[in-house]
Amino acid sequence: TISMVVIDAEGVMAAGTSTNGAAFKVPGRVGDGPIVGSGSYVDGDVGGCGATGDGDIMLRFLPCYQAVENLRLGMTPTEAAEDAVMRMLRKYPKVSSGLVVVNKKGEHGAAGSGWTFFYAFRSAAMNATEVVSVPRLDDRL
Ligand code: ASP
Repeated sequence: TISMVVIDAEGVMAAGTSTNGAAFKVPGRVGDGPIVGSGSYVDGDVGGCGATGDGDIMLRFLPCYQAVENLRLGMTPTEAAEDAVMRMLRKYPKVSSGLVVVNKKGEHGAAGSGWTFFYAFRSAAMNATEVVSVPRLDDRL
């Protein structure tokens, strides 16, 4: 999966995701990628989110919608992502997930479970992309 959250020079935000799907998927499987609020979500007044992971579980929780609503409530991007991942972990302790969250100011954070999740970021002021390794939340259960 490649999920992206972007902000342009005018502050306009967009989010999107692509996926090659899950291993052993049945023909016709849709997955979480095209489900708005699950694979990605953005509210230009607040922030955006992109997801990867076990889409068959994740799409039941709309984790990206949850994370953006968490930003609206005042959480940092990391807090917003962690809350959304914890909601899934409480019901599915083995779910593999990764959420990256960016607020309107360009602050970013992430959370994941089941694997060590990585994301990359770059602002206009940076000469190179930085890669962040995200500790797995299921280790805290
Ligand atoms: N979320 C994707 C899916 O379930 C898988 C992935 O992250 O690659 O289709």
